[in-house]
Amino acid sequence: GMVAMNEWVEKSKTYLWLPFTQMKDYEQHPLVIESGEGIFLTDVNGKTYYDGYSSLWLNVHGHRKKEIDDAIRAQLEQIAHSTLLGAANIPAIALAEKLIEWTPSHLTRVFYSDSGAEAVEIALKIAFQYWRNIGEHKKQKFVTLTNGYHGDTVGAISVGAIDLFHTVYEPLMFTSYKAPFPLVYRHPSNDPNVVRDEALHALETLLAERHEEIAAIIVEGMIQGAGGMHIMPAGYLKGVEQLCRRYDILFIVDEVATGFGRTGKRFAIEHEDVKPDIMTVAKGITGGYLPIAATLTTETIYEAFYGDYTEFKTFFHGHSYTGNQLGCAAALANIQIFERERLIEQIEQKATFVAEQLASFTELNHVGDVRQLGLMCGIELVRDRHTHEPYPWTERMGYKTTLKMREKGMLTRPLGDVIVFMPPLASTFEQLEAMIAIMKEAIIETTEKRG
Ligand code: PLP
Repeated sequence: GMVAMNEWVEKSKTYLWLPFTQMKDYEQHPLVIESGEGIFLTDVNGKTYYDGYSSLWLNVHGHRKKEIDDAIRAQLEQIAHSTLLGAANIPAIALAEKLIEWTPSHLTRVFYSDSGAEAVEIALKIAFQYWRNIGEHKKQKFVTLTNGYHGDTVGAISVGAIDLFHTVYEPLMFTSYKAPFPLVYRHPSNDPNVVRDEALHALETLLAERHEEIAAIIVEGMIQGAGGMHIMPAGYLKGVEQLCRRYDILFIVDEVATGFGRTGKRFAIEHEDVKPDIMTVAKGITGGYLPIAATLTTETIYEAFYGDYTEFKTFFHGHSYTGNQLGCAAALANIQIFERERLIEQIEQKATFVAEQLASFTELNHVGDVRQLGLMCGIELVRDRHTHEPYPWTERMGYKTTLKMREKGMLTRPLGDVIVFMPPLASTFEQLEAMIAIMKEAIIETTEKRG
């Protein structure tokens, strides 16, 4: 009955400390999810919501997808977990083989972990140690892009550059060089090519001066997610790759948010046909089921770590649950569904439909910009859509809008005043249309002054 249900809400306020959440906000707007089915989530009061952010950008085929549930159950009949430290397991091997097949051919090795941030930490440590292992002791620093986001652990925030999240921890971080992200929306030029060339020029200037001390650059794949859903102009990622080759630094692409179909390709690097030395994946890898992540590298990098133990080349990194059998089995089932349902081929059509539906948003008084790549979308709310003047951040317009969406039966999490729309890739046209209608109503009701 109702009493028992509300008990969970009360206990959530009493016992939990939620990630990336001001608990004072949570106490005012608590939410306890009890179950999920398809692209819907149901809370302990029986209210059902569209999962408009794919449970934080990772669900692919919906919740309780039978094939993934079955794969996990079948794996349970074998074993739930054993360590990957010095001991392989069958699902981890089978998944690694599949990942190598799914990613561009130059990536040949898979190093597992349990979250996107860890995959990034590992990428940074591998890049750092690679140079040391081949006798280049000066290349120890990283380049990252303004507004970039790569996770919340100390290494990952050291290559992060979102002021609101990162400034407070600055004394804790190692220093990285920042190159400007080619952010089109607030640039004085409306020409993406101008924005791109300016950003590449700034990066080149930095590398020309400092490449001898730089191990790698890390960038998100084609679109900065947490930084506000900003899409790189065409040719930018390719330009970064060329600079990496010219100045002999490693190229790390973080595909944690963009991998597994989110942007319309298996991986976002396919939009520009670039070949990173290191690539990180997580989120969509298990279809949003279990915590598996991976860092993929070239054979050249792998070989730099290969030798007699006493040569000191070993990569000293690992976690208790890495390569977990249940997670790897879920990931394999996830990828098999992608293949069987030809999901990647369908995303383009769905993305076109979403673009048509979102087009009318730009007529709203307080929508400044609509950005979309595949099914990764951001709608930026502004005080003045002609001057692009933002709302004061203390007004929390994005947050208020998403609370209004919640009332109307759809969940998402804003990025400041950018409303995130990241539906599960399996959403039907009808479901996409319904979610977009809820967003539009919520934006109008929240931003239009009435009465
Ligand atoms: N890298 C990118 C590009 C991300 O978007 C995220 C998460 O949003 C991460 C890394 C961190 O992943 P996780 O939350 O699994 O640690």
